[in-house]
Formats: sequence, C-alpha cells, structure tokens
Amino acid sequence: MKTTPCTKCHNKESVFYRPYSGERLCSVCFINSIKEKIQNSINAYKMLEHDSRIAVGVSGGKDSLTLLHILKQIEDETHGSEIIAILIDEGLEGYRNEAKRIVEKTCHDLQIELITLSFKKLFNLTIDDFALKNRKLSICSYCGVLRRRALNEGAKQVNADRLATGHNLDDMAQSALLNLLRGDVNKMQSLHPGGFFKKGFVRRIKPLCEIPEKETAFYSLLQNFDFQSYNCSYAHEAMRNDVRDWILEMEEKRPGSIHTIFQTSLKLIPKKMDKKQDICEKCGEPASSNLCRVCQMLEDYFSINS
Ligand code: SF4
Ligand code: ZN
Repeated sequence: MKTTPCTKCHNKESVFYRPYSGERLCSVCFINSIKEKIQNSINAYKMLEHDSRIAVGVSGGKDSLTLLHILKQIEDETHGSEIIAILIDEGLEGYRNEAKRIVEKTCHDLQIELITLSFKKLFNLTIDDFALKNRKLSICSYCGVLRRRALNEGAKQVNADRLATGHNLDDMAQSALLNLLRGDVNKMQSLHPGGFFKKGFVRRIKPLCEIPEKETAFYSLLQNFDFQSYNCSYAHEAMRNDVRDWILEMEEKRPGSIHTIFQTSLKLIPKKMDKKQDICEKCGEPASSNLCRVCQMLEDYFSINS
C-alpha cells in the first residue's frame, strides 16, 4: 500500500491528517506540533509569568492529562513555574475511582503535588444526591457551577496565581455557541483563554484552547497515556452534547469551522469588563447579586426538596 510522507520532516510516514491545515504528520512531528501549538497559545494570550504558581485541574481524561504532561515539560524547560494538580471528587459513584487512580499515578510519575477536594466536604452534597432528588436544572448545570467553585477553592488553598484547565478547541467553540443560544453575552468574558483578574478568583487559563479534541485524543494514544476510559453516566443530560454534534458535522463538511467559531467568539468579548461585583451574603464569596451562583443553586435545591 502506498504511504504518504510527513509534510513537515519529509522523512517518515505520516500517521495523522489535519484537514483544516492540509498537514500530514508523522508521530514525532505530530507530538512536537502539539507542544508547539500550546506554547504559542500560552505566549499569544499571555497566560503565564516567569514565576507563576499554576494549579492544574486534572480529571483523569485525555485533555487534562495532555495538559499536565506538556505544562510540566514546558515549565521545566522555560519558566520554571511551580505546578500543583487539583482533582475534584464530585461524588459520582464509581466514576471517579478510576480517575483518582490514574491521576495519582500520573502525578507520582511526574513528581507533581496533588490535592483532592470533594463536593461532599465543600457543599455537604454529592452529585449523586442531586440526581436522586427533584431539581430544576440538568445535573451537569449543578456539577459545572460547583466544580468551578471547588477548583477555585483548591487553587486558593495552594496559593496559586493561575488555574489551568484542559478545555480544548472544541470545548471553547461549544461554550461560545452555548452562550449565544442562551443569550448570555456576559459569559463571553470567561472565554478569554488567558483569563482575567477578578477579585476572589484565581486567574483561569486554557492552554489547550487551540488544540482540537481529536488531537488531544490522538496525542494521548501516541503517548500511551492511561486515561479515563468511560463517560460519566449523566453526560447525556448536557445541552452541550447537541451543540458538540452540530459543530462536528460542520467541521466535517467545512474543515476549519471550529477554529472560526472560536476566533469569532474572541471578537465578541466585551471590551469593558463587567466590574459589578458583590459579596455573597451567605458564604462571603464573590457574587453578582446578593447570593453567589453556588448558594442560589443550593437554596433552590433545598427549597424544592424540603
Ligand atoms: Fe458533571 Fe455532567 Fe460532567 Fe458528569 S457529565 S462530570 S455530571 S458535568
Ligand atoms: Zn455564596
């Protein structure tokens, strides 16, 4: 069978085709290109300083493991920033056990400190508790808001000045479309991959913002990462799934669509930051009204189940 050589090194056989750029890459050039792209995004969006202390949200999935490995390499070679991994245990029966084992082993191998925070300890509720009772929103809506709070809490606990998450290009494009579909223009701010300074929040950065999900998956396979093999049982509830399917269909028909959605969404970020910020009268965390989103959700949940 005829093989196609790598368009970068012109030497080895290509194993990956990028329809949006026309590149055909061998495994070595593919692996190098992922690290290069991440480094370029870090620089382009001014994500890090020379001596940042970076908390990395790690779930045990392919994206966060790719992020942790590459950040560790980049930081060892350049910035010399400190990296601490944070694992959030949402209380999903069975699901997080595999992730916990994978994350612990990875952190041990990479010699990275790991801290674990649980919904049970922070909010006295697990995600499985939400699933069993009446609720107004999808489980993923509760899970997302509580996980964001838990990650911020973990990052503050370890005195980090950056909180890196494994959001890939597909996640960024999905979030942009979801904000549009929900008419939530204010949320566009949080799409900036370099994050922004807001009192009470550790600045969130997204170094994988320009890496398509297919490529973190292929990278993880080539690197032989032991990553979480099955999905959370509530995943079907997320509205994100519909948007994901639509975007992937568009990408298939018109390669480059995911990049275009992401780049366009960056232009929609309001130039002026929404400065309005109160303190939650219940928990003392930052809020945009008298109660923060977490306390609002918990109050709603308890009121319909009392
Ligand atoms: Fe949480 Fe939904 Fe993700 Fe499961 S699929 S971990 S419930 S956000
Ligand atoms: Zn609150």
